[in-house]
Amino acid sequence: MEIVIIGAGVIGLATAWRAAAGGARVTLVDPEPASGASSVAAGMLTPVSEVTYGEEPLLRLGLASRDRYGAFVAELEELTGLETGYRTDGILQVAFDSDDLKYLDDLRRFQETLGIPAEALTGRECRRLEPMLAPGVRGGLHAPEDGSVDPRRLTAALLSAAGRTGVRLVRRRATGIAVANDAATGARLDDGTVIPADRILLAAGSWSGDLEGLPPGTVPPVRPVKGQVIRLRTRTPFLGRATRGLVRGSSVYLVPRTDGEIVLGATQEELGFDMRVTAGGLWELLRDARELLPGITELEFAEVSAGLRPGSPDNAPVMGPSALPGLVVGTGHFRNGILLTPVSADILSAMLLGGSVPGVAVPFSPDRFSAEVH
Ligand code: FAD
Repeated sequence: MEIVIIGAGVIGLATAWRAAAGGARVTLVDPEPASGASSVAAGMLTPVSEVTYGEEPLLRLGLASRDRYGAFVAELEELTGLETGYRTDGILQVAFDSDDLKYLDDLRRFQETLGIPAEALTGRECRRLEPMLAPGVRGGLHAPEDGSVDPRRLTAALLSAAGRTGVRLVRRRATGIAVANDAATGARLDDGTVIPADRILLAAGSWSGDLEGLPPGTVPPVRPVKGQVIRLRTRTPFLGRATRGLVRGSSVYLVPRTDGEIVLGATQEELGFDMRVTAGGLWELLRDARELLPGITELEFAEVSAGLRPGSPDNAPVMGPSALPGLVVGTGHFRNGILLTPVSADILSAMLLGGSVPGVAVPFSPDRFSAEVH
C-alpha cells in the first residue's frame, strides 16, 4: 500500500505515523512541515469547557480523543525521547461580570444534560485554585479532566516519530492530484513530478482547497479563520492550569507551560488568508487578560503570531473519502485540531489502510455537504 499525505500539520503528521506503523509505505509532502495553525495553537484539550449547543457529535469525538491522549503521548514520547508538554491539570473557566456568570451557568446546565460533570465555583473558590485572579472575578466552572499540550513540541515529536517509522518526507508543495480512469493516482508537485499512490490524504489545513485538477465539489470548502496569540514568559509561578475567561462577553484564555511560557489567545477573525498581527488584536487580548489577571502586565513578552484555523461550512472536521476514489480528506479541524489529533489519526489511518472506521467518525463524513459526494 503506497500512501501520500499532503500537509504535515498535526493531522497529516499523526496520520502518517499511524499509517506507517500499520504497515503502509507513506510519503508526506509539505514545503515547510508544522508551519500552519499547528505551530501557533495554544494546545488546550478542552472538549468539555468548549462544548456548545448543537455540537454534541463534536463533543463525543473530542471526549474520545481526550481519552486517548495519555496513551498516545506516552507512546510518542517513548519512541522519540521527546517531551510534548502534556498536562492533565484541568481547565478553569471564569466569569468577569454577572452576565458572563449567567452564560457559564447556562453552559453548566447544558453540560449536565449531556451527562458531563460540571463543577461550579464561587469567585473565592476560583481564586483558591488560581491566586493571581482579580478580586472581582465572579465565579467559574472547573473541568478537572481537561488539559493541555504544547503543540510545537507535539509536532516536533510527531515529525521524529514519523521519520523513525519509515515515513519519507518530501519538502515540496503539492499543486494538484493526478487522475486516471476517474480515480486519484498520485500527487503532483511544484517541480512537475508526480508521486504515485494507491491512496492520498489531503490534510493541508486551510489550504486544502488549493489543489488543481479536482472535479468541482470533490473537497468541501474550507475557509481560514485567523487567530492571533501572544507568548509571554514567567520565572515565578503565575498560573497553575489553563484558564479561560469571559470578560463582558468576550473570550480570552491563558495556557501555562511547565517551562514558564504562557500562551495568551486568541482572536477569531474571518479575513481570508491574512496573517498580519495587528495592534487592535493584541490590545484586545491584553485588555481582557489584564481584567482577569492584573499581574499579567509584569510578565516578559516573548512572541506574537497569527495562524489560520481550517473551518468547514459547519465548523466541524471533515474526515472521509471524497467524491474522487482514492482521495481521502482530513481537514476542517478548526478550533480543535490539537485536541482531535489522536482520534483523527486513528480514524484517517484506518480509512487509508482499509480497516474499520469507528462510529464516532460517521457525522464528519465529507458527504454531509453534497448529495453528489459518496
Ligand atoms: P495545519 O497545522 O494548518 O497544517 C497544514 C500544513 O499543510 C502546513 O504545514 C502547510 O505547510 C501544509 N500545506 C499547505 N498547502 C500545502 C500544499 N499545497 N502542499 C503540501 N503541503 C501544504 N486546537 C486545539 O485543539 N486546541 C487549542 O487550544 C487550539 N488553539 C488554537 C489557537 C489558534 C490561534 C489557532 C490558529 C488554532 C488553534 N487550534 C487549537 C486549532 C488547531 O491549531 C488546528 O485545528 C490544527 O492545527 C489543524 O491542523 P492541520 O494539520 O489540519 O493544519
